Amino acid sequence: MTETHNGIPLLRGTSVGPVFSSGDARQIKVRCPHCRHRGKPVYHLHGWSISNAADALEHRGAHCADIKSPLRATGYMIGLIADETAVSQ
Ligand SMILES: [Zn+2]
Repeated sequence: MTETHNGIPLLRGTSVGPVFSSGDARQIKVRCPHCRHRGKPVYHLHGWSISNAADALEHRGAHCADIKSPLRATGYMIGLIADETAVSQ
């Protein structure tokens, strides 16, 4: 039941960082729908520009270590989880 964007799986996550002293680079932490470690969900970290729009989506190669992950063939889109507090107007 993974959300898709143009047919590519879309994983949403939260921004973490800044990760470098320059302060303009962050990472995004997305929960992988495939990978599990000792029965628990696995999160993949990817670079994420601090200047990205809140609704930006970008493609990434899969960080799945499991060679059976279907995401390794397509990669996935990543984006931020929508801010629930900004929805109700
Ligand atoms: Zn994975």
